Amino acid sequence: MTTWMKNVRQVEPYVPGEQPRIDNIIKLNTNENPYPPSPKVVNLSMDLNKLRVYPDSSVGPLVSAIAEYHGISEDNVFVGVGSDDVIAMSFMTFFNSDKPIIFPDITYSFYDVWANLFRIPFETKPLNDKFEIVPEDYNCENGGIIFPNPNAPTCVYLPLESVRKILDNNRDVVVIVDEAYVDYAGESALSLINEYDNLLVVRTFSKSRSMAGLRIGYAMGNSALISALNNVKFSFNSYTMNYTQILLGVESIRDDEYFKSMIKKVVDTREWFCKELTRLGFSYPESSTNFVFATHKSVPAKELFEAAKKENIYVRYFDKPRIDNYLRITIGTDEEMKKVVEFFEKYC
Ligand code: PMP
Repeated sequence: MTTWMKNVRQVEPYVPGEQPRIDNIIKLNTNENPYPPSPKVVNLSMDLNKLRVYPDSSVGPLVSAIAEYHGISEDNVFVGVGSDDVIAMSFMTFFNSDKPIIFPDITYSFYDVWANLFRIPFETKPLNDKFEIVPEDYNCENGGIIFPNPNAPTCVYLPLESVRKILDNNRDVVVIVDEAYVDYAGESALSLINEYDNLLVVRTFSKSRSMAGLRIGYAMGNSALISALNNVKFSFNSYTMNYTQILLGVESIRDDEYFKSMIKKVVDTREWFCKELTRLGFSYPESSTNFVFATHKSVPAKELFEAAKKENIYVRYFDKPRIDNYLRITIGTDEEMKKVVEFFEKYC
């Protein structure tokens, strides 16, 4: 090994879902929204001459639109390049203890990657047999906590009383609730940020706002948390958000009617699809997201995953303990989901 190689940061990167560049596939592998962003976003004309100057490093108009939408103050909002960026910044900012941070054993597979990247010790707590987070497991010494609610890839929502239990037992560390999918679920933990100054709630424009390609995520919490995040951001890269992101993000926030109607469409399709899955011999935890996590009574998930791909239906399969017989299937349009049902009918 050459000397410089000894100083290279060794990391095992996160593996995102495939983004095949082929037409005519049914792409249900990365939890994207099957519908376009708001027409206000799609039809906005922009003065691209403005690209000459640096964007607003404070992300002002977007921070302000998000704050107004949620009825909070601007100093309670931090915006980043997708929630991945926001969460990575949060790991760097808040998880600097010698004690391990905690997250569920089955969860968003980027958490352990960031922990390793930033040299943060971590421990995982097993979900129960119904893939639920057990709040009591989080009553232990730790350097911080993160979990998605609803959890991914299991799609299970943890009721707010249980989130509160975790917060009550962990007043001295930062608790991050990653709400990438909360718009398809129930109540958000946002209502708790005034009560718990150590709670950070993270959201994204990638799922319910149909803007995965634009990369906008944000965090909401006590102003001291937001200010700490900004200090780290401005020590790293002042111009994280570009001119187009800021303008288009504001347009999306302004079109609440479209936003809510798209959520309803996805939820209606999900309810229909779940009934079909039951009829076809699948079981699954109740989904509170824009995807389902299903296992078939006789056909192994890996086999189904590969057979579906041959039919140009892309879903996600994780070859990991406890979940290696499950498929994570994003909810697409009604037409797409009918084709998936037809495929399962034929194959299973
Ligand atoms: N959290 C969870 C639980 C997710 O599933 C995802 C999507 N991969 C993200 C965060 C990141 O989403 P984005 O960076 O697109 O906002």
